[in-house]
Amino acid sequence: MTELLNEDNEEKGIENTSLKDLNIDNIRDQHFDITIVGGGIHGAGVAQAAAAAGYSTLLLEKTGWAAGTSSKSSKLIHGGLRYLQGGHFKLVRESLHERELLLRLAPHLVEKNEFLVPVYKRSHYRPWQLWCGLSLYYALTGFTNNGRFRILSKSQRAALNGLDTQNLQSVFQYIDAQTDDAELTEAVALSAQQLGAQLACPVTLLSASRENNKTNLKLNSNGENFSASTSILINCAGPWVNDVAKTLSPTVPTLPVELVQGTHLVLSAPIIDRYYYLESPSDQRAVFLLPWKGKMLLGTTETAFAGDPSQARALDSEEAYLLDILKHYFPDAKPVVERRMAGLRVLPKASGNPFRRSREVVLSRNLGPTSHYIAVYGGKLTGYRATAEKVVQLAQKTLGKRQRIADTADLVLPEIN
Ligand SMILES: Cc1cc2nc3c(=O)[nH]c(=O)nc-3n(C[C@H](O)[C@H](O)[C@H](O)COP(=O)(O)OP(=O)(O)OC[C@H]3O[C@@H](n4cnc5c(N)ncnc54)[C@H](O)[C@@H]3O)c2cc1C
Repeated sequence: MTELLNEDNEEKGIENTSLKDLNIDNIRDQHFDITIVGGGIHGAGVAQAAAAAGYSTLLLEKTGWAAGTSSKSSKLIHGGLRYLQGGHFKLVRESLHERELLLRLAPHLVEKNEFLVPVYKRSHYRPWQLWCGLSLYYALTGFTNNGRFRILSKSQRAALNGLDTQNLQSVFQYIDAQTDDAELTEAVALSAQQLGAQLACPVTLLSASRENNKTNLKLNSNGENFSASTSILINCAGPWVNDVAKTLSPTVPTLPVELVQGTHLVLSAPIIDRYYYLESPSDQRAVFLLPWKGKMLLGTTETAFAGDPSQARALDSEEAYLLDILKHYFPDAKPVVERRMAGLRVLPKASGNPFRRSREVVLSRNLGPTSHYIAVYGGKLTGYRATAEKVVQLAQKTLGKRQRIADTADLVLPEIN
């Protein structure tokens, strides 16, 4: 299957290469149309979209591809059923559209699964409410097969391994998709490289200053300082977004943000071969229990975070919260926690519960006819391609159009060796 996909790209004149080792000489004292800081999913996506649009592109990552939040997500390529509750229909429709694209363009990385939502007499939601929500989800897919849902029969419910069936009213089944977030990020970065982008890892942006219509970049790799320049700088540094912004001169606009930690547990037991969307009985948050590479992934939490993003660590209280939910739904489970992962969400500062806040990406840029700085705040793994295209459209206003090489909506993602 992947060979067929690679052939599809080769027909478009795109060579099937592997990720190249860093060669500073390809960057030192060079000028790029677009430079992106951060090799998470957004940075990789913007590099792919920029190179596809014909711009000379440099992608900088200080630690490793997907070293930040993009390897610590719930690994779902989804519309986000729960966002309907907050009325975020545009976000859900766009995410469902991107889900369909990724199922087509990266079948080796994105897999469709059936998710189960149990509803009990004590659940916050009534079965009719979930039915309405899933009908809307179906409508937002454009009434495609992947939007269909159903209610399990009593005998199907009885076959659910270990799920508490006392006072169970209904179990809904709907479709969403799962990926390996770090591999997806690497595949998108590799796709950018195949389109001509320079990938630079490990390279840290130390500072940048604007002079004579270009931004001079001070870079460091393994202790060696060097320079390059760019017409437009795109800040995709995730939880470090405002730290990177502070190193730029003259100053650029920043948005006040909150960092919210989300922890997942990797369980080696119990192994449950179904995908569950569960409601936390204590605070009604959505928590996923998902088969993951022969283990189970249980998450996530929402804990306010302050300090250095690289120091984010799962807390014992988060583990206890997640295990309580597991035991609530699977009373006989004897969970074995193998590993804990903590990722940071970037949410624009606002009052109220972070769980209810929009996950919509926010783009910030310096204004004026020669806008040369764009920052990506927040967003979703699922929507990376749509976000990247919006960023490149903004960059195009300053740089003008180039000869397009490819269309990201039509570009299969390469396999990572
Ligand atoms: C717990 C959790 C679960 C989630 N689950 C899902 C999900 O299931 N589905 C979904 O669609 N979305 C999900 N999301 C959202 C999604 O994971 C994030 O929106 C996305 O990963 C953010 O990617 P990013 O590229 O913006 O940031 P990051 O992945 O954090 O990348 C930023 C990169 O910038 C680099 N960097 C920082 N400073 C510099 C510098 N000076 N020089 C060079 N490089 C630098 C860092 O090393 C890092 O690699 C989840 C988020 C969280 C927190």
